[in-house]
Amino acid sequence: PQFTSVNIKSLVTSVSSLFQADMKQAGIAFELEIDADNIEIHADVSQLQMVLINLVKNAMDALEHMPDATISMKAYLNNVQQICIEITDNGPGIDTDAMNKIFIPFFTTKKKGSGIGLSLSQQIIQMHGGQLKVLSPGNNGNGSTFLILLNT
Ligand code: ADP
Ligand code: MG
Repeated sequence: PQFTSVNIKSLVTSVSSLFQADMKQAGIAFELEIDADNIEIHADVSQLQMVLINLVKNAMDALEHMPDATISMKAYLNNVQQICIEITDNGPGIDTDAMNKIFIPFFTTKKKGSGIGLSLSQQIIQMHGGQLKVLSPGNNGNGSTFLILLNT
């Protein structure tokens, strides 16, 4: 890994700009909220990009053929000064059964899925001393939120 100083705002902005056209094409509305203006961390930028790309792709997959599809990304500091990056979609959510398996390598519910994205993403975040959490409310159509927590 190559650790450098990474600006959270430019990280999140640059990754989200990669998907703007595809989302528009897919009829997905996109919201970006960054309250982390000059926050920098020591991290491997290409690995963090990969994590965000995985999470946005999963959100887009979850929203295929969904009406009023929306993805939002937020970056902010929480009350204990950790960097939080959230990716939320209003897709079908994750049922309780799958919830226990999504971070296991090769678990997928997709026809052409590899099941590698979330396990790899979790490894990368843990390698940065952080945590990757899922906050899906469950199988009730209320969507999913994935939360990355990193120490400043
Ligand atoms: P893949 O995308 O190849 O299936 P991942 O490791 O990225 O592999 O995801 C594993 C599984 O977790 C997915 O197959 C899906 O069942 C579930 N999942 C991940 N993100 C979401 C999401 N945003 N909404 C609903 N289910 C999700
Ligand atoms: Mg994936």
